[in-house]
Amino acid sequence: MNEELKSLQQKDKDHHLHPFTDHLQLSEKGTRVITRGDGVYIWDSEGHQILDAMSGLWCVNLGYGRKELAQAAFEQMEELPYYNNFFQCTHPPAIELSSVLGEVSPKGMDHVFFTSSGSEAIDTVVRMVRYYWSLLGKPDKKIILGRNNAYHGSTIAGASLGGMSGMHAQGDLPIPNIHHIQQPYWFAEGGDLDKDTFGKQVANDLERAIKEHGIENIAGFIAEPIQGAGGVIIPPETYWPEVQNIIDRYEILLIADEVITGFGRLGDWFASSVYEIKPDLISFAKGVTSGYLPLGGVLVNNRVANAIIDKGGEFAHGFTYSGHPAACAVALKNIEIIEEEKILDEVKSKTAPYLKEEWLKLADHPLVGEARIKGLMGAIELCANKETRERFSSEGRFTSLDEISAGSLCRDLSINNGLVMRAVGDTMIIAPPLIINQEQIDELISKTSKTLDDTLAAINKT
Ligand SMILES: *Cc1c(COP(=O)(O)O)cnc(C)c1O
Repeated sequence: MNEELKSLQQKDKDHHLHPFTDHLQLSEKGTRVITRGDGVYIWDSEGHQILDAMSGLWCVNLGYGRKELAQAAFEQMEELPYYNNFFQCTHPPAIELSSVLGEVSPKGMDHVFFTSSGSEAIDTVVRMVRYYWSLLGKPDKKIILGRNNAYHGSTIAGASLGGMSGMHAQGDLPIPNIHHIQQPYWFAEGGDLDKDTFGKQVANDLERAIKEHGIENIAGFIAEPIQGAGGVIIPPETYWPEVQNIIDRYEILLIADEVITGFGRLGDWFASSVYEIKPDLISFAKGVTSGYLPLGGVLVNNRVANAIIDKGGEFAHGFTYSGHPAACAVALKNIEIIEEEKILDEVKSKTAPYLKEEWLKLADHPLVGEARIKGLMGAIELCANKETRERFSSEGRFTSLDEISAGSLCRDLSINNGLVMRAVGDTMIIAPPLIINQEQIDELISKTSKTLDDTLAAINKT
């Protein structure tokens, strides 16, 4: 190991507290220092080239090393590095971007509130939907329904709306007036039901919760069209139509959290269009700038926006960096490139179908209970028994007492093979940059195959 790396790792260990990291494990293993990126690849400080099949954290949609994005930030920073949008001020990049977002977002969503992250977008959602109902004279409509195993960020409101029990356990969450319903996770929770029946049944948990808590108390329902951090959970085809039916029958707002699915991941600007749902609010972040600068926000439909605009008074909410000029300039360039290079068409008609064909073949591997994929989001389920979908832990192997799981083993072997996959429990997930080409997909698949073989061999040895 070279001296420079050692010294970086030492400083990191001495001073840097990491998000979502076991620091004991980290200091034993040492951090991997990523130093450079180009296209779908990243390099670590030891010079290993790694195919990043997670696009960083689901965000580097146009891939690494796009000079035009850097240039857009540079030029904006020279011209006007910062100004705010508070108190009747604004600036050209925020104005242009809000108008462009109105064009690419689903019909009727002509307004946007900017933040700098997905979590801030979710906090904005919570405050905005409650504000909306109070403007309409229904201040009791406060409850927001979320789903088990959803991820909506790490702020107090985001972690509360999310359904991650490990996050709730830290810091007395969820906050009041947030409740969770079932998730459409057939592989883990579908039992003997076929997928379509399960999808309907889980959707109906929304109606049950509305009745339980009282429609007069419910402000809205929030969901990711496809759960990302929960393990790329692609709902059965029956799920969203049934949810939309229920939303239409009751007077509540639908919030689609498209922080991952927005800006091309499913080959459309938004997954809401793919699933034909009609959200009142859409939260976005990540892919809006391909991760080059932090930016997020909430797209607001005219029903909600007009209430806020027409009733007068002030929505007492905002962030210093709401609509940061450099971040907006990068987002504008990012959207321009997606349009000019016809990235959405490319994903829809070429990249996603090819990846799907290859990815689904992984289901033949003895370790894999299910392979699923939609657009450029995929998962494979590692399990001990393909027929019963039994996990290793329920077989008494890799229980919570062990330091490793089948998933973490597989993830580490994957990195050794030059591929970033992420493990969510024993679910391996990918979300590669939208610009990945056929040859790189072949590389992704062959590295995944090899990793599965390596994982099986390692499991058989334990
Ligand atoms: C990442 C994510 C968030 C949080 O975004 P941050 O920018 O990390 O705050 C919220 N919702 C979903 C669906 C996400 O994937």
